[in-house]
Amino acid sequence: MTKIDSHFADELKKYGAKDFDACFNCGNCSAVCSHSEDNVSFPRLTLRLGVLGLKKEILSSVEPWLCYSCGDCTETCPRQAGPGQYLAAVRRFAISEYEPTGLTRLMFKSPPAFVAITTLIAVFLGFFLFTLKPEYEVSRWIFAYIPYAVIHNMGLVIFSFTGLSMVWGVLSMIISFNKNKDNKAKSKVGIFKAIWMVLSEAGTMDRYKHCDAEEDSHWRGKPWFTQPWFVHWAIMWGFIGLLVATSLDFILKDPATTIWWPSRILGTIAGLFMILGTSQAINYRLKKVTLIYSETSPADWTFLWFLWIAGLTGFWLEVSVAFGANNIVNQFVFLVHTVISMELVLLFAFSKFAHAFYRPVALFYHFRNLG
Ligand code: SF4
Ligand code: SF4
Repeated sequence: MTKIDSHFADELKKYGAKDFDACFNCGNCSAVCSHSEDNVSFPRLTLRLGVLGLKKEILSSVEPWLCYSCGDCTETCPRQAGPGQYLAAVRRFAISEYEPTGLTRLMFKSPPAFVAITTLIAVFLGFFLFTLKPEYEVSRWIFAYIPYAVIHNMGLVIFSFTGLSMVWGVLSMIISFNKNKDNKAKSKVGIFKAIWMVLSEAGTMDRYKHCDAEEDSHWRGKPWFTQPWFVHWAIMWGFIGLLVATSLDFILKDPATTIWWPSRILGTIAGLFMILGTSQAINYRLKKVTLIYSETSPADWTFLWFLWIAGLTGFWLEVSVAFGANNIVNQFVFLVHTVISMELVLLFAFSKFAHAFYRPVALFYHFRNLG
């Protein structure tokens, strides 16, 4: 049975949607969006669902995840309904609904809560990591008051909690999608082919490239390495590369002295991409180069700066280790680097980052229905 939530529009506005209820269904957004080729009602239909308060239908729809926030539709909307921002808000809302703890909801809806939570986590992690270096004088002093084992175990619990929340969220999304008859595979695209299409999209960002190549796009004709698809690619693969390099370092007990160790080379290349991508993203947002870059939430700023600092401090450490410079400044940089990197991983399931898991699932359902 269809259930209408009369407060849904107000709810979505708390997640960053504009006056999307001003939409009068003219279709300009669908005409301009490069992803409306297979579906003439995209993104108009998703706006209608929101205006009508059809919450469940929104949660079971893949459409919000087919949008790459290029903002072309927002620029052409005659009613200033902000369809691009609306879809971003719907994704934040969906992540909050799928994720079981309520932490995401709190952080997306309340910037002060976001600041308080990220600060508390940073303080906790800083304290936790500081005690991992008992050879430092001050650390030994702290160590006498807080037993290392207690803090270590708490850290493990928190990381497991994040991982489980992510798994729970993705399963909730799949359950929601499976209830929607529009998502039932009707084409000849098989499971393995759809998985391959998802992986190849992650590698090439072909769909995102279409946004930047649209006739009205600000990015049309600009060098490829300046375009938003590449910025996204560089940040995403940079982050994944650094995660893999760090894990390999940990598993293989990499000697800390050589920069030619394979995991170090991977880390160096990934770090370069991450710094390049985040520098471009920060620059575009500071300069407000397009409408969509002119509105940056505190959470988005925080994550961009965290990623940038994690990349930069990583290089600092690599050079310090190569030259054997173990001094108080480098120890402090090490602490900052590790706190920020751990916080980024910790908040993965409860932030915009989570789209790295949700979008591929939605794309899988979308690709299954092509053909
Ligand atoms: S362009 Fe604006 S008014 Fe027209 S359908 Fe899209 S959101 Fe609605
Ligand atoms: S923001 Fe871009 S990708 Fe998203 S619906 Fe609008 S035009 Fe399409």
